[in-house]
Amino acid sequence: MKKLGKIFAELLAERDIYKIGSLSKRVPKRYSRDKLQEIATAVLEGYGTICRLKKPAYIGWDLEGNPVHWVEYAFVHSSIAGEFKPVLTSRDLRNALPDSPYFIIDLMHWEKHSQKEKIKVALQSAQSYGVICDYLWGDRLALTWVNEEFKALANFPLDKITAYEGSTAEFLKEESIGEVVLLDPRAEKELGPDDLNAGAFVIGGIIDTSGKKRGITARIGDALEDAGIKVRRRKITLRGDIIGVPDRINMILDIMLRILVEEKPAEKAILEVQAPLQARWRLRKELPKRAIRYKVNGKTYRVIEKELFDEYSRWLKIRWEDFVKVLRELDLIALERKRIQHLNKISNPRLINGKTYRVILLKKAAMLCYNC
Ligand code: SAH
Repeated sequence: MKKLGKIFAELLAERDIYKIGSLSKRVPKRYSRDKLQEIATAVLEGYGTICRLKKPAYIGWDLEGNPVHWVEYAFVHSSIAGEFKPVLTSRDLRNALPDSPYFIIDLMHWEKHSQKEKIKVALQSAQSYGVICDYLWGDRLALTWVNEEFKALANFPLDKITAYEGSTAEFLKEESIGEVVLLDPRAEKELGPDDLNAGAFVIGGIIDTSGKKRGITARIGDALEDAGIKVRRRKITLRGDIIGVPDRINMILDIMLRILVEEKPAEKAILEVQAPLQARWRLRKELPKRAIRYKVNGKTYRVIEKELFDEYSRWLKIRWEDFVKVLRELDLIALERKRIQHLNKISNPRLINGKTYRVILLKKAAMLCYNC
């Protein structure tokens, strides 16, 4: 799946344009990650046009987004574009857009949310609009079951996406899409390369702060199947487990687009989107598996290797402070591998109540000495 910025760059290259600038201070934003993508979005949404300048501008970017100097073409805001010769317009770009799947946020369960949760659904939908514009273009994001209350809460331009008031099944029928992938954390199967060619990906417009809405994504699938749509239910996992995969609507969309558009492996996509919060959830599950139990003079200590931090930070977005926080919560002690090896030398394994402990019998003096 091609990024909008890439399609835009190809159109520029066809016109023998290899670098462009901007006469607008707002487009692209100063710290934007992908200048070309942002300019392309602004052109597509009709804020401006790429024009030939009367005299070269100093600052610009090449088609890879690297900074360059002296450009003869630039993004020009529509209010002054009339003064310049247009070379690439919104229509040109729209006509070049390839077929691309829809990413649907299904609001079927809207009424099951509290007021606070509804605000969060609206916020995550707005963030999803930002996410879709980072990779594709606004109308690829579809929201179904849109009602007046949602419209009032949605603080983003609904005319820039596909907002549909009917059901997802009706929308799919209108678009002649007969089969979808439903992202469902409770699905049996994991999302795999064979699922990436679907006509639409459905994400539940669900926020579950109370924990009462567990499992209701499946009902979105049931409703679609009842209406004759084929549904492939798939979960996104991180090394086989959904714990650690962010469950916010916009983050799921972001992960999907990193996999589909940027062609990144799922694990990398998840790591990039994950916040330390979700990384800690997973760490809490992982670390106890690695603990060694020691009994020193009758007292139990659960110890893990300090070096595990490096191992886990390769696939979990953790900082040292997250690691320490989880250690404290779980009452674990981290020691350097060398010291663990030493402890293993001076201890003997023993089975107590079905669990293995390494027992160290120390005299008080020896213990003090060990501590110093
Ligand atoms: N409590 C809900 C989940 C809400 S998360 C439930 O148990 O069904 C919001 C949406 O994000 C879900 O409807 C689903 O489409 C998507 N999602 C979240 N985590 C996911 C995962 N690990 N795999 C696939 N989809 C996921």
